[in-house]
Amino acid sequence: MNWAITLSLIIHWYLSLFCQTFYLHRYSSHGMFKMPYWLDRVFYLMTYILQGPSFLNPRAYALLHQAHHKYSDTEKDPHSPHFYPSIKKMMIKTFYDYHALVKNPVGERSDHYYPTWKTLDRFAESKIHTLFWIGLYLFLYQFVVDSPWQYIFLLVHFLMGPIQGATVNWFGHKVGYRNFSLPDQSRNTIPVDIFLMGELYQNNHHQFPMAQNFAKKWFEWDPTYPVIWVLKNLGLLKTQQS
Ligand SMILES: [Zn+2]
Ligand SMILES: [Zn+2]
Repeated sequence: MNWAITLSLIIHWYLSLFCQTFYLHRYSSHGMFKMPYWLDRVFYLMTYILQGPSFLNPRAYALLHQAHHKYSDTEKDPHSPHFYPSIKKMMIKTFYDYHALVKNPVGERSDHYYPTWKTLDRFAESKIHTLFWIGLYLFLYQFVVDSPWQYIFLLVHFLMGPIQGATVNWFGHKVGYRNFSLPDQSRNTIPVDIFLMGELYQNNHHQFPMAQNFAKKWFEWDPTYPVIWVLKNLGLLKTQQS
């Protein structure tokens, strides 16, 4: 691995992760804040571009995630690690559940806004979409690799969204400490979550599902919250408190 690959992995990791936690999770799934329609489209497009071949449809993501909160760590939870022998098996099941919801978005709440973008959503499900992104990444990677074996790192770029999702779903409900005693198995995996931008505070988040700041103790830090705070103070996001 060289510095250019390291840098591209780090940049892609955090940009794609930001879209997942800010747009797909906190906004599309929970509706923690509202934004003007033009900004909603900007973040939708940003999520599509930054997740690329592993783009996660916001409406399907939201439906799956709402079920996760409703049935957390029971048999009806779409991805509780306590019902699967391995992270791989859990993600295969999640993959099928997610695609079923993309095709047939059942279970929508009438009081909730699910972002959709018909043309983009349809394109994102096509083979041309996948081939386009794989082709583009392959093209770009020729400028960063020093030897052919390094193309293996492309797999991380291709699967960025699911890798981040799997890490949160598995470790966030299996490994770590608890600030709150809840009927589910949610955990805060690490005290300072700089790797998943706050997503690994699952225990805090399950206790306060509508709290924009996932950190609760003095030593915890949710790196996504300052971004929300800035956007809120710029008047771009509206929350129940503001
Ligand atoms: Zn959870
Ligand atoms: Zn949530």
